[in-house]
Amino acid sequence: MTRRRCVACGCSARVLQRPVERRPSWCPECQTDLYARPPRSYAEMEGICASPVVRRDRHDLMGFFERTIAIAMGVVVSVGLIASAMR
Ligand SMILES: [Zn+2]
Repeated sequence: MTRRRCVACGCSARVLQRPVERRPSWCPECQTDLYARPPRSYAEMEGICASPVVRRDRHDLMGFFERTIAIAMGVVVSVGLIASAMR
């Protein structure tokens, strides 16, 4: 029920149970691109568990906010340096 399976062929090989960053790029059975079509368990397909795609999107959103804050801080520091240099 919670074993992840290739959405193309239903293969549930052990390599498909690894976290996404240690998973192979291709299904060992049918060579489906696992980045384009990530393996999912029945529970995930039925919406019982949050899909890993949703979790990754939320992570990307947090990364976006962190990058935005870092860029904003960089701009503030640069403007401060320029302003003090012009005095
Ligand atoms: Zn497959």
